[in-house]
Amino acid sequence: MKKIDLKYIKDVPDSCKDLKVYSCKIIPPKGFCAITLFGFILIRGTEEYVIRYLNSRRGKITLNHERIHVLQGRALGWLNFYINYLYFYLTAKNRGLNDHDAYRSIPFENEAYRHEEDFDYNQTIWD
Ligand SMILES: [Zn+2]
Repeated sequence: MKKIDLKYIKDVPDSCKDLKVYSCKIIPPKGFCAITLFGFILIRGTEEYVIRYLNSRRGKITLNHERIHVLQGRALGWLNFYINYLYFYLTAKNRGLNDHDAYRSIPFENEAYRHEEDFDYNQTIWD
């Protein structure tokens, strides 16, 4: 796991400049790109790969998506955030949704996907 110094990434939006970002080869697991754990953002891949990714527009959007989860976690408290996240996921699975649809139905993901291209988004619905 390597800390990514965002000052070496070009055109990082102001709102994302203070994020704590790490490259990691095993977390999140295969099939996922990034995860926010208690305020730390882990992006899957080598340091070189993550730097290249963050220099792309898609990488910036992912960063902003994770920043919205940081807002949510701070607003609710991290433990409360993860308990609710899991609860929403499991109740969606219980209604018969597949893994992907259950994931997308989680209100935290809804908010993050809806606003991930808005780099000035700062007011989470959970405040
Ligand atoms: Zn998300």
